Amino acid sequence: YQPLAQIDPEVQNIIDKETWRQFTGLELIASENLTSLATMQANGSILTNKYSEGLPNARYYGGNEWIDELEILCRKRALQAFNLDPAKWGVNVQPYSGSTANFAALTALIQPQDRLMGLGLPDGGHLTHGYYTAKKKMTASSIYFQSFPYGIHGESNLIEYDSLASQARLFKPKLIICGASAYPRDWDYGKLRATADEHGAFLMADIAHTSGLVAAGELNDPFEFCDVVTTTTHKTLRGPRAGLIFFRKDSKQAPDLEKRVNDAVFPACQGGPHNNTIAGIATSLLQACQPTWKAYAKQVIANARTLAEELVAHGYKLQTNGTDNHLVLWDLRPLKLTGSKLEKLCDFLGITINKNAVSGDASAQTPGGIRLGTSALTSRDMVESDIKVVAEFLHRAVQLALLIQKESGSKLLKDFVTAASVEQEGKEGAKLV
Ligand code: PLP
Repeated sequence: YQPLAQIDPEVQNIIDKETWRQFTGLELIASENLTSLATMQANGSILTNKYSEGLPNARYYGGNEWIDELEILCRKRALQAFNLDPAKWGVNVQPYSGSTANFAALTALIQPQDRLMGLGLPDGGHLTHGYYTAKKKMTASSIYFQSFPYGIHGESNLIEYDSLASQARLFKPKLIICGASAYPRDWDYGKLRATADEHGAFLMADIAHTSGLVAAGELNDPFEFCDVVTTTTHKTLRGPRAGLIFFRKDSKQAPDLEKRVNDAVFPACQGGPHNNTIAGIATSLLQACQPTWKAYAKQVIANARTLAEELVAHGYKLQTNGTDNHLVLWDLRPLKLTGSKLEKLCDFLGITINKNAVSGDASAQTPGGIRLGTSALTSRDMVESDIKVVAEFLHRAVQLALLIQKESGSKLLKDFVTAASVEQEGKEGAKLV
């Protein structure tokens, strides 16, 4: 029980440097947040030592008295945070991440090679919603299932519910997935339910990005219409890195959803739950159950709106011209500046953002935009007046990037970012253009 700094100063040093980066920089990545000290303490606790395959009161290991109590508490808080009736909804709190939660949900709902429809990745969807390219099926959700992506309108950049319904009539999916990683607007779950019902399909919402806002009642309620709702716990929900799967207990279509979901998580997709993480989830959910949570969620949205308005006022183009949630999708193509370049330049400036595909990009690997989110800055108590300053910083970063590009025919900017992007190219085939 000697402290980390004594046992492993090298790792301690890396943690110290990352702590400094997080405390001194501006965190604008839409999928990140700054979790509380209490959550981190629970997440870093002694509970990491315990194996507990199975479910409360039905484990494959002894010594789980307190782990059972913890998992039951976590489930209770998860239902409470989303205002769900325990007679109608259940939740599995064991998924290690959003991706494993989604794959377990697919395993529970459909059979291998069954058909699913999700929002295409270039239009804001997530890899786990059936993404593949013309060259390759690189995600488990496209390898093990047949997937047909739906999209957003070329001009409005909004989900095209009518063409989705027409495509579904041809494709006849067994599952429709809604939810996204980069869609700044809210969802019409009722329309999607009607389309799913035409085909006897399941409707699943992946609210990984927006769950903190949904819990606060600030966005439309997917639970009213969906069979299954998945989420990560570390984005707007401000917990540790993990996933949750909510399932309808009163589904007429599949009255056995509870068993299907639980069996899909363990043993189909996972082994022993990470009990330290479940403790962290429970603590963060306690915070999401407090009256102050609504104020946080409202502020996240108000900050995102302010960010959008300020960027538009500077003459920049945003996908859908604004936002309903925590994120803003900034189309840099009119500036002839790529997302990779601005991301790397901002890294040098202590502003953390990420490149992102915008509608109409030739390739998801050379994204023409930037995704920004306000959850983390709002966790640092920033309000609209602070966000105006942040928007001004971003404006100056763009001006600097354009200046460097103009002065040196793009070479200087390329040199600026080469080291990092060469590394990236090797890793994920992303090109710096
Ligand atoms: N679903 C959505 C909509 C996401 O945006 C993400 C991650 O960004 C995931 C699932 C996957 O979550 P994780 O990275 O925890 O596997």
